Amino acid sequence: MPHDTPLIATIVAGLGLAFVFGALANRFRIPPLVGYLVAGVLVGPNTPGFVADAGLANELAEIGVILLMFGVGLHFSLKDLLSVRAIAVPGAIVQIGFATALGAGLSWMLGWSMGAGLVFGLALSVASTVVLLRALQERRMIETERGRIAVGWLIVEDLAMVLALVLLPALAGVLGGQEQADTHVSGVLSLPASYGIWGVVGITLAKVAAFVVVMLVVGRRVIPWILHYVAHTGSRELFRLAVLAIALGVAFGAAKLFGVSLALGAFFAGMIMSESELSHRAAEESLPLRDAFSVLFFVSVGMLFDPFSLISNGWPILATLAIIVIGKSLAAFVIVIAFGYPLATALMISASLAQIGEFSFILAELGVGLKLLPEQGRDLILAGAILSIVLNPLMFLAIDWMKPWLEARAARTAPPVETKPLGPATEPGQVASVAATTNREDGPPPRTTLANHAILIGYGRVGSLVGAALKEAALPFLVIEDADKTLARLKADGIETVSGNAANAEVFAAANPEGARRLILAIPNAFEAGQIVLRARAANPGINVIARAHSDAEVEHLKGLGADTVIMGEREIARGIVEEVLGHKPPEASEPSAA
Ligand code: AMP
Repeated sequence: MPHDTPLIATIVAGLGLAFVFGALANRFRIPPLVGYLVAGVLVGPNTPGFVADAGLANELAEIGVILLMFGVGLHFSLKDLLSVRAIAVPGAIVQIGFATALGAGLSWMLGWSMGAGLVFGLALSVASTVVLLRALQERRMIETERGRIAVGWLIVEDLAMVLALVLLPALAGVLGGQEQADTHVSGVLSLPASYGIWGVVGITLAKVAAFVVVMLVVGRRVIPWILHYVAHTGSRELFRLAVLAIALGVAFGAAKLFGVSLALGAFFAGMIMSESELSHRAAEESLPLRDAFSVLFFVSVGMLFDPFSLISNGWPILATLAIIVIGKSLAAFVIVIAFGYPLATALMISASLAQIGEFSFILAELGVGLKLLPEQGRDLILAGAILSIVLNPLMFLAIDWMKPWLEARAARTAPPVETKPLGPATEPGQVASVAATTNREDGPPPRTTLANHAILIGYGRVGSLVGAALKEAALPFLVIEDADKTLARLKADGIETVSGNAANAEVFAAANPEGARRLILAIPNAFEAGQIVLRARAANPGINVIARAHSDAEVEHLKGLGADTVIMGEREIARGIVEEVLGHKPPEASEPSAA
């Protein structure tokens, strides 16, 4: 391996091994991120063989964090953020307090100083953005009410950590560490200790406020203006570049100029772009980079881990893990229930926050640099992070198991808990759409009772027209759809729906393919559609399958997999145009039977 190109070597080794181990993990039905972590351990300095550049891997991972938070911002509006403040703010604060107390307790048992306890506890209290977003994305929950609460909660935690990062150097002397840090943790730590504690707090808060105001006042005008200007050039490439430049630029500027974290800066950039429908759509298109970089995040975490520490540090690691996975979850669970939310919401939020990640590493590094935290503390935080990230998907599985049992118990012992309305900032329309999404369960969807029906997949531009025709003809059908907004519309139209990705076996099975007469695939992605055709044929060899395609290659692909009829969108458009011009349909194309 040539050592003169460390950046390329790191990217290639990181992504390549992550792919291999991610695919292996998937083969054994383990979440792929466990494979990414293993890949990281293998290219890390603690195992023999090739060693990637940890510093570079970290920076690449940071880009992943920026793009992820930008993506979250794109799906979030200020209204969403404010609508969950009533629970997210007290929830995050109480959880941070509880976790910090537990961490300080463990630190005391290990004989560390009070300052060490504080840093250690704080590091255990903040969840990882990447891990949380990945979990929500995999379960398609970012745009549900639970997802919004979890993300709002995380943003409050992030803000608290930004404050902690700035305050620690100023407080280090008082806490028994070294006054000034010789760390290069980021531009966040630029305030001198001589301002005093309140001075530092005041200046930090003022900077965060200044950033928010600048974004809301200037950014809100300038960013859409830039996008519209670039759209006029007619270059798609330039447009995507503009989106990327704005996301990275705002994040970087936020960190350098205002001391706000990169992640928070990117979140605001995304939120502002989401205000116009046009830029929103375009910006979403430009996010494929996000997934690649978030994989590098897990690889870079794996690189830090020394598997042998599991033996030398046995019980303190277990105790640290217990604080992260059990202590924090309990605190979150109690708070969410106390606010009157349903059990399923409480479980989901507890599980999604039961892990630690990037902020914890930054805090640990800072603590060691300030001579507050012993090196053992950093090792415990790392081990706790890795193990809790690996365990996190299992937490979600566990709540799927536990939920029916807990719900049965709750129903026996107490009157059913009502879903709490979203608070004063909510408008009636919003409550309706949220209600539609909160009804979504995390487990397998309930099976339909329909038989001899049609299964319509996708209710967008194509599916909604097909659905209307089926309804008009009074044919029995149901729709499988995975976009929350569309689900709300289906509900309003009174159409039976299975929510989720139709390519998922459980979701598809809920539509009773064995008993169905017809399958109509109105989704644009031919790869996904092909998987669904295979599954449908396996379940019901006699089912009539009609699919949608956008190229001849897709038509062939879908027919090869067993679709009876494939309608090629572009050909139909051409026929419509020809008909308009000639006044009659082109003679050679016979009408395919579509419904
Ligand atoms: P359109 O291209 O406007 O017809 O929209 C396609 C619709 O299909 C959108 O509403 C998507 O949310 C939905 N969709 C796409 N893929 C899937 C899938 N795998 N499972 C369920 N719904 C899907």
